Amino acid sequence: MDIRLVLGDITEQRVDALVNAANSSLLGGGGVDGAIHRRGGPEILAECRALRAGRYGGGLPVGQAVATTAGRLPARWVIHTVGPVYSLREDRSALLASCHVEALRVADELGARSVAFPAISTGAYGWPVEAAARIALGAVRNTPTNVEYVSFVLFDTRAYAAFAEACQGTVKEA
Ligand code: ADP
Repeated sequence: MDIRLVLGDITEQRVDALVNAANSSLLGGGGVDGAIHRRGGPEILAECRALRAGRYGGGLPVGQAVATTAGRLPARWVIHTVGPVYSLREDRSALLASCHVEALRVADELGARSVAFPAISTGAYGWPVEAAARIALGAVRNTPTNVEYVSFVLFDTRAYAAFAEACQGTVKEA
């Protein structure tokens, strides 16, 4: 698997699937979720509503993942996952790792070969980006998958630097 770091906007990535740091409601939010729905158009929300009306009536549980169309985005699918809110009292690392493992599992089901991840849980959900980077990279590296290209698309230089530090020169930077 080829892992790359990209400084940029995930909605501009030409990949088979891009991962959304959604919330359990699947009905949109701020941050990367807001950007994906804004740029992807109403088709994504329509599919999310259908998921809420069906299999995910109670919302998408933390650590799980589900796919929809990518609407007008230059990708084929959006894989929505719900990161854990950071907690000082409780170690929720396994849930953050699970977001990555489950997103890759869904990508495999779709036949996606290239997948772009944002820095899940590091915005509104408050995760320290250095720790989140280690967990995200570890999970992706240790998951058996047919996905050949994984990019981590970091929105600012601090997140980019944290991911670069966490992989210590072992992945390509762009
Ligand atoms: P969460 O609720 O999981 O913390 P956020 O969307 O608030 O999700 O933040 C997750 C990360 O996504 C943050 O590092 C934030 O800077 C970043 N982000 C926000 N918009 C974009 C975007 N368009 N492309 C890539 N990353 C983004």
